[in-house]
Amino acid sequence: MTEGPIDVLVVGGGIAGLSAAIAANEAGASVRLLERAPRAERGGNTRFSNGALRAVYRGIDDIRRLLPDLDAATIAKTDFGAYPAERYFADIGRVTEGRADPMLSRLVVDESFEVLCWLMASGVAYDPLWSAQAPPVDGHVTFYGGSAVEARGLGPGLIDALYDSLEQRGVLVSYGARAIALLREGRGVCGASVRTSDGAARDIEARSVVLASGGFESDVEWRTRYLGPGWDLATVRGTRFNTGDGLRMALEAGAQPYGQWSGCHAASWARHAPAYGDVTIAEKFKRDDFMHGIFINAAGRRFVDEGADLRALTYAKYGRAVMEQPGSVAWQIFDAQTVPLLSDDYRDPSVAPIRADTIEALAERLTGVAGNAFLETVKAYNAAVRDDVPHDPSRKDGRGTVGLAIPKSNWALRIERPPFEAHPVSFGITFTFGGVRIDARTRVIDIEGAAIPGLYAAGEMVGGLFYFNYPGGSGLVSAAVFGRLAGRAAQEGSSTAVRRQSDAKGGR
Ligand SMILES: Cc1cc2nc3c(=O)[nH]c(=O)nc-3n(C[C@H](O)[C@H](O)[C@H](O)COP(=O)(O)OP(=O)(O)OC[C@H]3O[C@@H](n4cnc5c(N)ncnc54)[C@H](O)[C@@H]3O)c2cc1C
Repeated sequence: MTEGPIDVLVVGGGIAGLSAAIAANEAGASVRLLERAPRAERGGNTRFSNGALRAVYRGIDDIRRLLPDLDAATIAKTDFGAYPAERYFADIGRVTEGRADPMLSRLVVDESFEVLCWLMASGVAYDPLWSAQAPPVDGHVTFYGGSAVEARGLGPGLIDALYDSLEQRGVLVSYGARAIALLREGRGVCGASVRTSDGAARDIEARSVVLASGGFESDVEWRTRYLGPGWDLATVRGTRFNTGDGLRMALEAGAQPYGQWSGCHAASWARHAPAYGDVTIAEKFKRDDFMHGIFINAAGRRFVDEGADLRALTYAKYGRAVMEQPGSVAWQIFDAQTVPLLSDDYRDPSVAPIRADTIEALAERLTGVAGNAFLETVKAYNAAVRDDVPHDPSRKDGRGTVGLAIPKSNWALRIERPPFEAHPVSFGITFTFGGVRIDARTRVIDIEGAAIPGLYAAGEMVGGLFYFNYPGGSGLVSAAVFGRLAGRAAQEGSSTAVRRQSDAKGGR
């Protein structure tokens, strides 16, 4: 069966696809969105996200635009700071070790604030992102810059607002609809074959197709093939539906692979977490407060600089660091002075940490850890902590260690006050970095360097932006930026296609 033609077919119902569908609808296109997941699980990784949004803001006036309900008392106790474009651009460059494509980074940075304002017009609201800032000092909170706001209702709130907006606009959304192949016409793309949950297949013709179906983090075979040995054992933090379909279809259509296909975002993750994200339980598996303590492996040794930088600029690469340890496991160690700094994620009542009143007793209770080496590690670490710099979690305080092969550069406090706690962790994959090459209009570029007519891509599918690591809060924003651009460009492309067809008819 064949349906259509419509102007724009969007494949994928996370923030990239939803932004594309909204933008194309605003531009006057007839739009249809295919979401592989059933309605109850719609929304991809976006739904699982914490809703943190990294965008440029110049100061309190920009913050007020995003948070129109902000009251005077909150403003008085908060230093929101600012996040200039050049700092955002530099942060992407720094964490990706200079490899991020400057054209893609520039687009994300320059459009970041505007895209958040644009999402508000589709019903998205924001709250201050208190959880990612320094703990209050005398009731006063200092923002680090970077991600200052989160979507109200976090990932689920963001997703519900955008689907509601699509519904109000009358855009047709098909759930349980998996795109399996692109329809081709010459060098170009003119729709997609779709399999629905009843097993039926049909073709949907469209003048433009936007692929926004995420990466391949949920496919164990692709993960192992591209990321390498060990990644088969990863826990998936988000959706089970991102298995690389869009990437496969784009490559089959001649798209140019781009970016770090062996790289991904992965965080340290509670060892008891389920194999995939579960939309029915709030996320309790984050173990991102490592900067207050130390990580140790089964050999009893530290293996990363826990205080190398602000958490948002390091956590996405520490999943890989844990993966590379013996058994792909690790423990985070805290004492009575650092436990109060931990977030509520560490207080999930279903999992008690390993506790002891002496560090020696803790060593005995850490099953699978070389106890003597662990005690040596703690002793050497405690001896190396600087005393001449005050501890200040509201900024990179420079209170580090001296003389260790693996330093801790900031926030170093001795592990010395009982009781002591160990939290067992493993690694959770968030999304993959490898993707396809796009141009500044999100047109998919083929291996000869030319745009593939009718094909656009957005979100996690875009390669070339993230390498090795990622600045927290830029996944959602980059997906919205590219999604909005893709929706607009796809509508323009579809009008051009209509003009070409009618010219051809007129010329006959
Ligand atoms: C636990 C977790 C927390 C996170 N927290 C944050 C955060 O706070 N801030 C931030 O910026 N980023 C965060 N991220 C990353 C962020 O969620 C992603 O970068 C972003 O959501 C990507 O959007 P997307 O639309 O490209 O992909 P997704 O949201 O994953 O959407 C892809 C969609 O494609 C659909 N799909 C797949 N295959 C097909 C097919 N064949 N046919 C049709 N549909 C298909 C899927 O069902 C899915 O709906 C987090 C991710 C996770 C997992």
